[in-house]
Amino acid sequence: MKKIAVIGSTGSIGRQALAVAARYPERFCVTALAAHANERLLAEQAAAVRPAFAALRAEGEAVAMPAGVRFARGEGAFEEACAFADADIVLVAVSGFAGLKATLLAVGAGKDVALANKESLVVGGTLVLRRARERGVRILPVDSEHSAIWQCLHFDRTAPFRRILLTASGGALRDLPLEALPSVTAREALAHPNWKMGPKITLDCATMLNKGFEVIEAMHLFGASLSQIEVLVHRESIVHSMVEFADGAVLAQMGMPSMELPIQLALTYPERLDCALPRVDFAALGALTFAAVDEARYPCFRLALESAKRGGGYPCALNAAGEVAAEAFLGGRIRYTQIAPVIEASLDAPWPDARSYGELAALDAAVRARARSLLPSQ
Ligand code: NDP
Ligand code: MG
Repeated sequence: MKKIAVIGSTGSIGRQALAVAARYPERFCVTALAAHANERLLAEQAAAVRPAFAALRAEGEAVAMPAGVRFARGEGAFEEACAFADADIVLVAVSGFAGLKATLLAVGAGKDVALANKESLVVGGTLVLRRARERGVRILPVDSEHSAIWQCLHFDRTAPFRRILLTASGGALRDLPLEALPSVTAREALAHPNWKMGPKITLDCATMLNKGFEVIEAMHLFGASLSQIEVLVHRESIVHSMVEFADGAVLAQMGMPSMELPIQLALTYPERLDCALPRVDFAALGALTFAAVDEARYPCFRLALESAKRGGGYPCALNAAGEVAAEAFLGGRIRYTQIAPVIEASLDAPWPDARSYGELAALDAAVRARARSLLPSQ
């Protein structure tokens, strides 16, 4: 029986993880749940799953829980869930910079981490992977592209390869004429054609900031240089990514777009379990298409690659500015086409390397302050 702590249980990945665990009650036991503030859903999940512990990070009133479920809230409670003593593996499905602390706590407690929170690697990849090595724990990728690459490498993150071919759907606005982008609404940017996900990552798919994050994530996870990673727009989201080897052979991992498979694989690796998810019907599928990224449509993607190239504090700064710009756009404060300029101007400063969690948090806060100062006054 594998004991799982699900951090960010009320989100899109967290809910799907609970669905995966529920399919195999003889294999999985969810021992801890944590979320930010969604009391109602956390209580519902606790009633269904009966974890030993349920936590909310946000301060507030006590929440009624079923018998046998201990509840606590606040930073200390969140930290306890991330390093939960009675867990074998911690699924980090928090969104944003906030996930870094969860990942570091889980690793520090000697737990394997099923990592959905890509920001942990974007902002602190060197730190996270060094700590994981020191503690002898595994970082198991949940992001579908990285799960695909991991599968193509036969679950060996250190295996040699020539190139990584990272696929991207192109997001919700991929077919909109460029001149229509300034008047895009949050609703339009969040209408993803192939995947149903939380708001931040869905917006980041439209701008392809997400794909830039995934390039940085792949550099850390698979020891790839920037020049070894090629991003291809693949509208059908059937090929989840590919790896080219020294002899020119290319392996691809394919499947219907569903996060349940990569979540499940991170939890059951190296075993593959039977799974009732829809299968690819190749005869009915039609053509699979691949194209280069159009830089005029996706300026955030270019900014992400530039941050990856500059290294130091820039990937962390990229994420912080991206979070501020996303919030401003979704809150109606800036236009869609102002997202990239806000990020670019935020990055236009010397952001030095940050090595510890404290330094990363300070850098994150400083970049957020700069990014906010660049927003139009309300
Ligand atoms: P959602 O926005 O749907 O869920 C976020 C979860 O994190 C919620 O449980 C939320 O709690 C919690 N949370 C938010 N802020 C904080 C915080 N400050 N402290 C603690 N918990 C917090 O996000 P997704 O599930 O879509 O994404 C989660 C992560 O997985 C992201 O890093 C994303 O990039 C990555 N990912 C997601 C994919 C997807 O298909 N959704 C695919 C690949 C990667 P509450 O509900 O209480 O606010
Ligand atoms: Mg992905």
